[in-house]
Amino acid sequence: MASFRNRCGECSYATDWGAESASTDAMLEHYSRAHPDVFPGGVVEFRTGRARREGPGFLTIVGVVVLICLFLAALRDCR
Ligand SMILES: [Zn+2]
Repeated sequence: MASFRNRCGECSYATDWGAESASTDAMLEHYSRAHPDVFPGGVVEFRTGRARREGPGFLTIVGVVVLICLFLAALRDCR
């Protein structure tokens, strides 16, 4: 599940990660409070559910390498 946050286009403010509608509402509230004369803008960021990307990815690569080694060893034994 993806979560969203908005970054203000006028200052360094960013909303918390969450649902897209909640993030948009928080940014509109920020603009009305901090930049009342500016039309709301900024950047929307999103991310997918997995928080830790490197750990599982590395283990997957190690697992694939081990499987390839076992496969090659099995081929060699069959000859
Ligand atoms: Zn701002």
